[in-house]
Amino acid sequence: MGSLLAKQAWRLLHNKTSLFYKVFKARFFPNITILEATNSRMGSYAWKSILIGRDIIQRGSRWRVGNGEKINIWQHRWLPIKHPPHQPICPIKDFEHSLVSSLIDPFTRQWQTELVDGLFVEEDAEIIKRISLSQVATEDALFWPFTSNGIYSYKSGYRFLKEEAEQPKTNQPPPLRDKQLWKNIWSMRVAQKIKNFVWRACRNALPIKKELVRRTIIADPICDRCRTAIEDPLHALWSCSEVDIVWADQSLWDFRWSTDFENIKMLVSWLIEEGKQLELFAYTAWSVWNQRNQVRVRALATVPHQIPSVSRTLLHEFHSRTLTSDSHFHRRTHYLQQRWVPPPANFVKINFDVRSS
Ligand SMILES: [Zn+2]
Repeated sequence: MGSLLAKQAWRLLHNKTSLFYKVFKARFFPNITILEATNSRMGSYAWKSILIGRDIIQRGSRWRVGNGEKINIWQHRWLPIKHPPHQPICPIKDFEHSLVSSLIDPFTRQWQTELVDGLFVEEDAEIIKRISLSQVATEDALFWPFTSNGIYSYKSGYRFLKEEAEQPKTNQPPPLRDKQLWKNIWSMRVAQKIKNFVWRACRNALPIKKELVRRTIIADPICDRCRTAIEDPLHALWSCSEVDIVWADQSLWDFRWSTDFENIKMLVSWLIEEGKQLELFAYTAWSVWNQRNQVRVRALATVPHQIPSVSRTLLHEFHSRTLTSDSHFHRRTHYLQQRWVPPPANFVKINFDVRSS
């Protein structure tokens, strides 16, 4: 049943010259696309059915990026990953309506890598930068990834619905209260990679031993440093006795001895609420993580007692580097929010001030 409804919706999305399309379009979504159409009490049974089908299409299909003007960065599926269905998680509420086109340089037709690195976690950023963009801006296309020709079929729709019903729900967006946390992490004055790192740690997305055991990649979850506790992000970065030396500065981290945190997210939230040194914490935790990884691959590693001064230096260097171009990030985000629209071809758009002399 659902699979057949999806077929109807697919036709409405793709065969725009059919009578079927014209009738429905005029009646139910005259000024928008079917993807944006909402259910209304006025809607007929047929229309309601088509919306059910439309939702199935939305859950299963993917967007192929053309000019990016139809694709919402956070609400549409456009990252080319099949399993699990994937869409990036929006870090900041202000960007909720941003389109993929705002990530593409309209003149060079390349990804704006700086922006992509800044907005997405590392894995997603890498995936996005690997999506090739055509030199001519074509329209974005919705395709069905479960058939070889990308066109929805009843059979593949049925299979998709069956698999979907069997799968546990994953990739849920973060709960609303997390938004504030993401926003704070995002507004730290630290390098992009540091933000990504803290964000991933809070989302439990670091390749930490506890997580690797959960995914049955390894069998032993015990911290290699102290061999006494399970290695989760909080332990590895903060509470392991082997990193005592890193957090030894009493004037900064005295609460480490007196306050227990359930996980790294709680710790980060607490640092934000108490107005503690979040940025220095971020660089220090990142250095701890790097040192851990270097030791694991037997690379030349920073000595733990050097981590505090190294982290401090990195933070200061970043601040002095960005001091002169402090407005840079804001210009970028402003750009993204404004959704500047490139001029049509054969047309030069000139923005200028007129000053009377
Ligand atoms: Zn340990």
